[in-house]
Amino acid sequence: MTTDLFDTLLQETRQAYTGHAAMMEFAPFPDVIEPQPITPHHCPCADVFLQDTALASDTYTDLHAAIAAAAPAAHWRETYKDTDIGDDFMDRFGCYCIIGDGGPFASDRIRLYMVYMPPHLYYPWHHHPAEEIYLVVAGQAQFRRDGTPDAHLTEGQTSFHASNQPHAMQTASDPVLCLVAWRNRFDTPPVLTDRKA
Ligand code: FE
Repeated sequence: MTTDLFDTLLQETRQAYTGHAAMMEFAPFPDVIEPQPITPHHCPCADVFLQDTALASDTYTDLHAAIAAAAPAAHWRETYKDTDIGDDFMDRFGCYCIIGDGGPFASDRIRLYMVYMPPHLYYPWHHHPAEEIYLVVAGQAQFRRDGTPDAHLTEGQTSFHASNQPHAMQTASDPVLCLVAWRNRFDTPPVLTDRKA
């Protein structure tokens, strides 16, 4: 049942999140989380994620499994649909909401997403008013933040992005799966940053 898939997803998400000091420091996991109706929305990126056999997590095996199990019932986001980001990015960059608009759960405290990037994908510079933290659940990627050195992050590591601080990501031969949390001003979607890569 779909409800069970999402309940398991929430349970595994809560366990990973509350077990990580940097995530809890960013924002405590909400006490009040309400289930809400969801309209599944499929896109090619969902298949890319589900067919990725190289993605594996030593630390977050159960969370990875729960994200994959809920994937067919999720509302996959097309955040950059009407931009010039290109078809390759649209077809391969995967994201669905776990807590927040379009997701199976709601909270007035945080937004929570899964983000997936297959190998050799570049997520161009972008920014948003919400503060953000990425937790790498599986795989690895290069994280770029305006004004700080690039960081190569693997599972269990985090990247914090301040309000409207431009950031970008790049995968090499490995994919990456992340849990992404937003706090404050989370009703404004991200936009691509007008700058050179
Ligand atoms: Fe971001």
